[in-house]
Amino acid sequence: MDFKEIDHIKTRVVGIDIRENTTTYAIVDIRGDIIAEDSFSTEDYPKISDFVSVLAEKVIMLVEENGGYETVRSVGISAPSGNYLTGCIENAANMPWKGVIPLAAMLQDRLGLAVALANDGHITALGEKAFGSAHGMKDFIVVSISHGGLGSCIFSHGRPHLGMRGFAGELGHTCVVVNGRECGCGRRGCLETYCSSRGLVKTAEELMANSQEPTLLSSLETLSIDTIIDCCNKGDQLAIEVFRRLGFMLGIGLANCASILNPEGIVLTGDMRKAGKWLYAPMKESFEEHVFPNIRGKVRLLASILKEGERDVLGASALAWDVKEYSLFK
Ligand SMILES: [Zn+2]
Repeated sequence: MDFKEIDHIKTRVVGIDIRENTTTYAIVDIRGDIIAEDSFSTEDYPKISDFVSVLAEKVIMLVEENGGYETVRSVGISAPSGNYLTGCIENAANMPWKGVIPLAAMLQDRLGLAVALANDGHITALGEKAFGSAHGMKDFIVVSISHGGLGSCIFSHGRPHLGMRGFAGELGHTCVVVNGRECGCGRRGCLETYCSSRGLVKTAEELMANSQEPTLLSSLETLSIDTIIDCCNKGDQLAIEVFRRLGFMLGIGLANCASILNPEGIVLTGDMRKAGKWLYAPMKESFEEHVFPNIRGKVRLLASILKEGERDVLGASALAWDVKEYSLFK
């Protein structure tokens, strides 16, 4: 029998990571190797129709230059406020496109390939499960801390827990302080108002305003996660206290979540993992203090091992493998 007549699977997918500033797209093979990758400025296309046209054009060009359509099976997209259940971006707060945008359908129409879409937290977790620190785990939580927010995604029995409408896992908007700091969601005391990079800077400002202690922080031109870490490394006690407070709050948030879900591990990603021991030690201490005693000492608190710029393109490619439909050109 001639093996040419046997059907072969397509061994590549396209992963797309859409962020406020930059959109990155890559061809990823079945082993998770990035074959080709490129990016462009998201902000240059405030009209969604222009954005989709340019994205489709660029993806087609990359595919044609790297093996052609017959090698590509499907497409996965990571987008802020992306809903896996509907394939739409739904009222993304920080993106130029307002309302509900059926991005997966729009791109599928242009490319003739099956397209799946999910939010950035879900994609980050898929990336960690397929290629990173959650590899081999079935029950885990991935927490991603960046400038503005704290995103999270829960996996249970090896599947993401999405909830009825796809909005499950908003750990960042659980209340940790009654009548606490104002949050972008319109309420007060949410975990992310204390544990995002912005929350870290706010804690530093509050501590400096209420302390007579000399600190290197007061001589900084800008307070940021990097400059505060730098002061910790120089032994500045107030800077260390800033992270101690953040770690304490984060430990409570993660312990509450772990007490409900009993995960095998919690993976920390995003800017905040740069803080290393300054965050990890107080977070771990607070976590073990506040978690349900029967699981105390039995939940692994892990840092992501993937590169920040690479993980979400890889996660989007992992999502692409989950699309059931095949290419129209097959
Ligand atoms: Zn909130």
